[in-house]
Amino acid sequence: MKKLFLLILLVTSSFTALMAQPAKGLKGSEYCSMRRMQRESLNDMNRELLNPTIHSYDVLNYTFSLDLMNNYTTPFPASFSANVIIEFKVDSVLNSIVLDAANASLAIDSVKIAATGFTHNNDHLTVQLDHTYNPGDFVQIQVYYRHNNINDGAIYTSGGFFFTDCEPEGARKWFPCYDSPSDKATIDLTAKVPLNVRLGSNGRLQDSIPDATSITYHWVSRDPVATYLIVISSKVNYQLDIVQWQDTICNQSIPFRFYHNANEDPSYIESIIGAMSSYYSAEFGDHAFEKNGFSTLNNQFAWGGMENQTLTSLCPDCWDESLVAHEFAHQWFGDMITCKTWADIFLNEGFATWTEAHWVEFISGYNNYKSELDGNANYYLSYNPGWAISDPTWAVNTPGVNTLFNYAITYMKGSCVLHQLRYVLGDSLFFAGMKAYALDTNYRYKSAAITDFRDKMESVSGQDLHWFFDEWVFQPNHPNYNNVYSFKKLGDNNWQVLFTARQSGGSLDPYWQMPIEIKIRFKDLSDTLIRVFNSVNNQIYSYQFSREPYALNFDPGNNILLKEGTTLVGLDESPSVVTDGLELTPNPFKNSALLTYQLAKQTRVIIELKDQLGRIIRKFDLGSQNTGLHNFKLEADGLVPGTYFLCLISGNSTSTLKVMHY
Ligand SMILES: [Zn+2]
Repeated sequence: MKKLFLLILLVTSSFTALMAQPAKGLKGSEYCSMRRMQRESLNDMNRELLNPTIHSYDVLNYTFSLDLMNNYTTPFPASFSANVIIEFKVDSVLNSIVLDAANASLAIDSVKIAATGFTHNNDHLTVQLDHTYNPGDFVQIQVYYRHNNINDGAIYTSGGFFFTDCEPEGARKWFPCYDSPSDKATIDLTAKVPLNVRLGSNGRLQDSIPDATSITYHWVSRDPVATYLIVISSKVNYQLDIVQWQDTICNQSIPFRFYHNANEDPSYIESIIGAMSSYYSAEFGDHAFEKNGFSTLNNQFAWGGMENQTLTSLCPDCWDESLVAHEFAHQWFGDMITCKTWADIFLNEGFATWTEAHWVEFISGYNNYKSELDGNANYYLSYNPGWAISDPTWAVNTPGVNTLFNYAITYMKGSCVLHQLRYVLGDSLFFAGMKAYALDTNYRYKSAAITDFRDKMESVSGQDLHWFFDEWVFQPNHPNYNNVYSFKKLGDNNWQVLFTARQSGGSLDPYWQMPIEIKIRFKDLSDTLIRVFNSVNNQIYSYQFSREPYALNFDPGNNILLKEGTTLVGLDESPSVVTDGLELTPNPFKNSALLTYQLAKQTRVIIELKDQLGRIIRKFDLGSQNTGLHNFKLEADGLVPGTYFLCLISGNSTSTLKVMHY
């Protein structure tokens, strides 16, 4: 039902079709993806800012004042009046600023403080300032505006609810802002509502002051918030439970607020949220905020969860453990560290979906973690639309939500990539790297790009991981293995195992390098696991044993989740090169070295010297050579010192030696 359900979603994108589907039994990441898929595309919005990460000013704080007195009673209009004080730091000389402000949603009435005039068109509010400001100056402007009575997919009002929902670019529909995920600001929000309304927002509740007919809620977030994570969730007679969690790392009590509808029972989630917070804190660094919480909404928000900072939105009665595990992981990956641009969405959704499985691992062990990821991989392999997890153009032009939040790519493949990184590095380096990334003050409470995460994992592990991110994150698709192996009796108590790592595809197709594992089982019921780094196609591995082998499994732990293909008893019974005989002396070498190799049959031989990126540096076509032992003298002759791969191509097989020149 899950796949069918998602298939309907992908094909129709029809909200009414979705309404007929049951919401229960979905994974958290599925809720999360579906919610976003419902959104209309924002591609038609006019975009003038060429690079959202380079900007002439940096917003420091938004101070909102909203009058919501008329939104909770029939006919439940979406219109309200408000003003916002925007405090920003000047980064380059300017006498005006451009804010995002959707024309269909917002009517601008006036501007004040340092603002002297404005124009509002093409979804941009250009504000003239009272004089020219220089880099480092702090400026405040105030904008008085009204939200129109329209259904814009950002403001929702019905049946006594008023709530916002903004990812990726809905914030500009309810307040003028610099609507880029990297520009985070602190928030001070005051909202006047009828006396019977309870209203939650980001940060902590400073005060709530009633009078005869109204109550004014005042929320303050001292931690910076990305615009798409700013939230209001409110309702007439909203139920509220508050659970205190003792943060033992910081030795403080953190309130968790559970806003819910009257007929719901959030008690199970209330009972586990402390353990989840403690576990995530131990894994990824201390919980970052002064409060946290969840609010269930109405059927206008029927299918998802949204990780608004310190107040996650949930669909009605969606007190579901995997959904909460996913959304709460976003408080670290998405909220505390926000994707720098929408090209970095992997850092939000890949991480939250992987953490969803990691929570399962904490509760019920590695096998259940792994089977969840096996399922994610199967989903990706069934529905892969064929684009990469990250496309650099998304940083400039936000793609449609069906691309940005594609379930197979952004969620399923993203989570598998993190598992594969865990496999490549091993648990100790992987978890040390994840924690070091989450604790890095360059990113914590700020934003990060995928390359920042890559660089952090490289520095923690001491390994070059460019190849890994290039293959799995920046390049589409996955390898299709067609490995072959053979067993051969060489003599008494002497058996040879030949394994050829092979991927289908032409010479121009990329080759997915990976460490690969081969498990060989023997007739005496013993077995052995071999791990080697497979860097080129048709790489042959040869092993000799004094026991008789009878079975070979490629990647027995299925740690390379993102793959297809077969490993068969092969035809390479007698490869043209006996790899045991492939040798370079000396290695490392300075001026020259002698390559020796043995051919099992007459064949054409080509020798290629490749650098670590796989580029051919030298190539020697030696023509047809006879059976037997051969020598080839490799001259350094201007070769830059470093590590290389020497590939001996004979017939249809390639043998590779790692060599060093100094
Ligand atoms: Zn998510």
